[in-house]
Amino acid sequence: MTEKELLEKGYRKYRGEEVDVYFNTQICEHSGNCVRGNGEIFNLDRKPWILPDNASKEEVMRVIDTCPSGALQYIQKEG
Ligand code: SF4
Repeated sequence: MTEKELLEKGYRKYRGEEVDVYFNTQICEHSGNCVRGNGEIFNLDRKPWILPDNASKEEVMRVIDTCPSGALQYIQKEG
């Protein structure tokens, strides 16, 4: 999906240096894979709860790929 499509579907953007993360709370099924997968990136006790720059781009993508609902998405930046 493009950023435009994600934002139209109600995803919120969390900006990172190399990768942007998008989250849609309506779709989240609370499996907890994200916070268990990497608590530095995903921490519900913090605002913002997603900090894409707290780990490598590869790690951000790895954890998001374990999200079962599609509530988490990412778009890599060019260059
Ligand atoms: S892994 Fe996906 S579905 Fe599970 S809690 Fe995180 S965002 Fe929600």
